[in-house]
Amino acid sequence: MRLILLGPPGAGKGTQAERLVKRLAIPQLSTGEMLRAAVAAKTPVGLKAKDIMNRGELVSDDIVVQIVADRIEERDAKKGFILDGFPRTVPQADALGRMLFDKGLKLDAVVEFKVAEDELIERMKLRKKQAEERGDPVRKDDDPDVFKTRLEAYRAQTKPLIDYYRSKGTLKTVDGMQPIDKVTQEISRVLGA
Ligand code: AMP
Repeated sequence: MRLILLGPPGAGKGTQAERLVKRLAIPQLSTGEMLRAAVAAKTPVGLKAKDIMNRGELVSDDIVVQIVADRIEERDAKKGFILDGFPRTVPQADALGRMLFDKGLKLDAVVEFKVAEDELIERMKLRKKQAEERGDPVRKDDDPDVFKTRLEAYRAQTKPLIDYYRSKGTLKTVDGMQPIDKVTQEISRVLGA
């Protein structure tokens, strides 16, 4: 199965992706995680992405498209994958469409997480507070001002993908305001899997 999880930052995509990995036995491809790893390893991509990510803006389409193109070639992704945080712009979605078409593959579904902005801000604050209490490192982009920029990037550049995939007939919407287990159940229901 090839899935996209689409939604604003803090909507629960990562949490649900982890559960889908276990249930469907396919990998989670999170461009945010891959970019954070590149930043930590100080690779050329990481060096380019670091400041952009710290500001809460989007890394260039060329960079992320290349990362995903390389990643879906790996063996574990042959039987399917869960894209988390990609595509985030219409050019990225077009590039993904071409990549899959060239391989004779298709997307099974795009799961949209619907969550109100007030709730997203509260979740980010809670995530930051809990990390601080545990003594864990806090993500630089989990800062109220940077989070606002991330939400703006979502609104301006990613939200148009909802209509993009709706018009292709692949969009399934779930209510991401529900408790985690309920969201998991709703995803199972919309996927029929
Ligand atoms: P995430 O972990 O998905 O919230 O991503 C963290 C940050 O990584 C984003 O705020 C962007 O700076 C960058 N990023 C992740 N995925 C993408 C993408 N598909 N396109 C552009 N930038 C991305």
